Amino acid sequence: MTQGSPYRLPRTVIPSRYAIELRLDPTSSTFDGSEDVTISVREPITEIVLNGKEVTVRAGAVVASDDTITEIAKAVPDPSAGRISLELPDELPPGDYVLRLDFTGKLSDLMEGMYRSRYTDDEGREHLVITTHFEATDARRNFPCWDEPDLKATFQMTLVVPDDVVAITNTPEIGREPADPGFARVSFAESMVMSTYLVCVVVGNLGLTHPPVYAGETPIRVACRPDRLHLASYANEVAVFSLNWFGDYYGIAYPEQKLDQAAIPDFAQGAMENTGLVTYRETLLLVDPSQAAYVEKLDVAETVAHELAHMWFGDLVTMRWWNGIWLNEAFATFMSYLCVDAMEPSWRVFDGFQTNRMVAFEVDALENTRPIEFPVESPDDASGMFDTLTYTKGGAVLRMIEQWLGADVFRDGIRRYLRAHAYRNTETHDLWDALEEASGEPVRRIMDAWIFQPGYPAIEVRRDGDVVRLTQHRFSPSLPEDGTTWPVPLIVRQVAPDGEQLQHVLVEADGLELPLEHPDALVIANAGSSAFVRTFYDDDLRSRLVSRLDELAPSERQSLVDDAWAAVVAGRAPASSFLDMLPAFEGESAPAVWQTIITGLTWCDRFLDGEPRERFRDLVRELVRPALARLGWDPRSEDSDLDRELRGDLIRTLGVLGDDPETQGMAREAEMLSRTTSSVDASVGAAAVDVVAFAGGVEEFDLYESRMLDAPTPQEQERYRVALSRFRDPELMRRLIALTTSDKVRPQDAPFLFSRAEMNRDVGKIAWRYVRDNWDEILPRFAASNVIHLAHGARIITDPELVPEIQAFFAEHDIPQNHLSLVQAMERQRVMAAVRERIGAELASRFS
Ligand SMILES: [Zn+2]
Repeated sequence: MTQGSPYRLPRTVIPSRYAIELRLDPTSSTFDGSEDVTISVREPITEIVLNGKEVTVRAGAVVASDDTITEIAKAVPDPSAGRISLELPDELPPGDYVLRLDFTGKLSDLMEGMYRSRYTDDEGREHLVITTHFEATDARRNFPCWDEPDLKATFQMTLVVPDDVVAITNTPEIGREPADPGFARVSFAESMVMSTYLVCVVVGNLGLTHPPVYAGETPIRVACRPDRLHLASYANEVAVFSLNWFGDYYGIAYPEQKLDQAAIPDFAQGAMENTGLVTYRETLLLVDPSQAAYVEKLDVAETVAHELAHMWFGDLVTMRWWNGIWLNEAFATFMSYLCVDAMEPSWRVFDGFQTNRMVAFEVDALENTRPIEFPVESPDDASGMFDTLTYTKGGAVLRMIEQWLGADVFRDGIRRYLRAHAYRNTETHDLWDALEEASGEPVRRIMDAWIFQPGYPAIEVRRDGDVVRLTQHRFSPSLPEDGTTWPVPLIVRQVAPDGEQLQHVLVEADGLELPLEHPDALVIANAGSSAFVRTFYDDDLRSRLVSRLDELAPSERQSLVDDAWAAVVAGRAPASSFLDMLPAFEGESAPAVWQTIITGLTWCDRFLDGEPRERFRDLVRELVRPALARLGWDPRSEDSDLDRELRGDLIRTLGVLGDDPETQGMAREAEMLSRTTSSVDASVGAAAVDVVAFAGGVEEFDLYESRMLDAPTPQEQERYRVALSRFRDPELMRRLIALTTSDKVRPQDAPFLFSRAEMNRDVGKIAWRYVRDNWDEILPRFAASNVIHLAHGARIITDPELVPEIQAFFAEHDIPQNHLSLVQAMERQRVMAAVRERIGAELASRFS
């Protein structure tokens, strides 16, 4: 980007330190501030241009050097550019100065910039919490600054706040004195050199865990509503493990002086990696590990590890501009799995990563996919980068290269990269270059193809006599083959009677031939499924795999199922090729594999009505019952967390997809017991909540509504809130809509709940039509980044009557901040509507 860009400030003035004082009163909707910014003026200037949006600079601003003071003549805001020009009376010569100014600003109520969040305590009193979320460009709403990621500086904050509330920022408190009556002036240590979007302030009636826990010398605390402090210990535990583990992995000590993790009652995103003060949604930080289902704990562990991975990758070393945000997020995603895998190896989190990867496979197969990285001029252009292609495909291609290079070589490259660029900024290729130096492999050429080309390949695997031939082509259900190819880093595994062989190969445009190790060898072309590819085998090789499932890793079995369903979606194979394979998975014990089977079955259920749907439910019951019978309803002492998770998944499937009355009866009992005792396993309890809603009526709805508000943990509240979308009575769907638009559902949760309601197989239409008819009224309540979920729910609908209606509506109603995501959702809906047309009759006759 050149200096002429309207989105890039001139490099004539460079800041190096901000001393900021803010006066914050949670009961007021405005704030006052002042700042001293140490700047270096590089050439003679007549104005200082910096970022500022909805902040007003007061008269009296000056630029001072050691021996001069120049008054700013005029501050001219440019609201559309988010800039302020400070006009100087005379030309200012190059040199070092301090810019001193006072300003006022407004607190937002929309979960962006500096905003107010609210909660009500047990006595019914409302409390306000001031917090910040600056990524990408909202620091400028809080204080005038050079609000670009490569204009790094140190920050020294002083907060004047009511003397009875907690005030925290990126760094430790170092002083506190009385200010005006009822207020205290709290000063904080100077921060490390960092970008403006990572500055954070949290002020309000919150509790802090005490005493701190420590990772090495670093004190760690959780800040949250005082009545939820008892749910903070798990987040502290994960933080200690993560900081220690990342410190070792990266070979660099944690770069800030302390770590606080704050749970914010209203939070648009999942969490935010502000240096030294990470902010979270309550459900992703506060958990009772003894009462939480495995996935609920995993969500907290992964989120904490993800944010803490950023303290080095993102915060210490930062992308030069917003085109690089994908690497920031993809890397933290991948590292969070590595870290949690080290913390809890029995969770086999990379198997779970693969089930998440299914969504990225879906989106990236569309005509309207995008390359992972693309040019970004305006920071808003990057808002579309916060999607599944960035987090999941991006994370998956990093996993691919890590597995292919080898874990140690990859880690050495990362260390090299972080050491070389600490406290500074990078372009994406700097990472590839570091990995290339560490490995001697052509990492930059490989990764450039994967990040600058949209889509991904299918690898066709054919046996030809005593060789195996691998070829590639772009995989897509909607595009004709377009000739795109990739250097595909594959690990090929062959299992022969006399042993197993692993080969790391690079499949180029013209394919690759490998000797078949033995006439009966099992060939797994994508061992561990670490490459971001689909794999299609010839009939012989495929039937070997299906008949010898126990020789495959769970990740490899998951891919076999996922690819079989993808072949149906792409029109390569009839539905029978997927359904006929399922009995082979009778003894399956991995949740990741079952979840993939269930995904295909859930689609089939959506394509069937009447009697055939009933017969299809028989099939579901036949498949699932023996697996559940093996586990039983009651946890056994030898159960792993994954066994418990699978038990819950199977109960949910049997009770909902199988509509099984016996399961529904047992779920009713389990749900009731789980409310009053702790004797029900959390995964069973969570599944029972879903099953009871699916089979339930008014009485259950009433109960769920109150549990959504009063259940003792954020996770349980969420279980009941989400389950409200499963009731099948049209009247109850209307009640849910009324609830979702009331104060009982926070704006941070409402878009997700609408989305779930639209996905309701039987009465989702009512939710969709409500969204359609009330679009303009519901939107202003939601954070801009969450609006897209309304379209994500609707995209699941494939009823021939509704598809044209939904397509027409979104053609008229763009979601500009996530335009591409909307276009993808609509294409995905057309793809699945076409699948329904193609296989609907086949399914109907199979199940008649
Ligand atoms: Zn992140």
